[in-house]
Amino acid sequence: MTDALTLRIDRVACTGHGQCAELLPELITLDEWGYPVLHDTAIPANLRAHARRAIRACPRLALHADPTAARSDSSSQAAVTTTSSTR
Ligand code: SF4
Repeated sequence: MTDALTLRIDRVACTGHGQCAELLPELITLDEWGYPVLHDTAIPANLRAHARRAIRACPRLALHADPTAARSDSSSQAAVTTTSSTR
């Protein structure tokens, strides 16, 4: 059992404020419209404090860290919420 955490964005709730990318640039950048892009969903132990701060700072409560079971594949994109929306 691992205590790994996975970063997840609720794409419906996110309105592109961008605080998450400012507080966690190691894992998040913004696309051309100001919406976050996750470089990796796995949160390294040394970035957990920064990730928690980014999660707390999100004004839309759209950023989450979920416990992750160890995976045999490396398909990190599978954990990203990809709900479609009309922007
Ligand atoms: S801080 Fe929250 S609302 Fe703003 S871009 Fe990041 S996830 Fe979206």
